[in-house]
Amino acid sequence: MLRAEGVQKTWPGFRLRLAFLHVEPGQALAVLGPSGSGKSTLLRVLAGLEAPEEGRVEGGFRVYLPQTPLLLKGSVLENAAFGLRLKGVGRREALARAEEALEEVGLLSKAHLRAQGLSGGEKVRLALARALAVGPEVLLLDEPTANLDPANARMVEALLARAKARGAALVLVTHSPAQARRLAERALFLFQGEVAEEGPVPQALREPRDPRVRAFLEGDF
Ligand code: ADP
Ligand code: MG
Repeated sequence: MLRAEGVQKTWPGFRLRLAFLHVEPGQALAVLGPSGSGKSTLLRVLAGLEAPEEGRVEGGFRVYLPQTPLLLKGSVLENAAFGLRLKGVGRREALARAEEALEEVGLLSKAHLRAQGLSGGEKVRLALARALAVGPEVLLLDEPTANLDPANARMVEALLARAKARGAALVLVTHSPAQARRLAERALFLFQGEVAEEGPVPQALREPRDPRVRAFLEGDF
């Protein structure tokens, strides 16, 4: 579960405001909007990485995936085990669970290669393996399939669907309304830091009330 209320976060020349947000276990909220509208800022506030000047964010154990995966030096397996080690899981158990997570993302055969040598798509899958291994209650994802080829993007979407099925609450920043339709129950559109539209995916994406959202969906942004 994730819940935010009365959030305000400002940068010089920019203000994000969000009256209310709620994501249930096993559900996904898609966050859309043009570049610079505050999507990443919102995600970082929800992750607890940026402190808002006002408002509250509450929720279970959260894992945040930035747009560019942050991988450590060392092997794929060590990277996959890192979240578990941070959580205090012993080395042997962490490595065993990391192997399972790598199997799930199709990277077990690369467990002993250097993580830095992976392709872009593989790096995202590794970051997801590391995230999923700890069994997060909330997954916060910043455009996880941007710059991925279709095969990797499909794989990532399948992994996110599986995380939802296991009860994780997802917030998914995406450029793709089609991806929002496939993965999310609700969608939220940001324009210049303000929520222009929020609602169930079919309505929010098919019959948005806000003209800026209609223009965005018609590809004018
Ligand atoms: P989006 O992810 O939708 O492209 P961002 O949240 O990255 O939007 O940025 C929203 C606004 O906040 C932009 O004007 C950006 O320059 C500003 N901003 C984001 N992060 C910072 C930061 N760390 N310091 C100063 N300004 C920032
Ligand atoms: Mg962004």
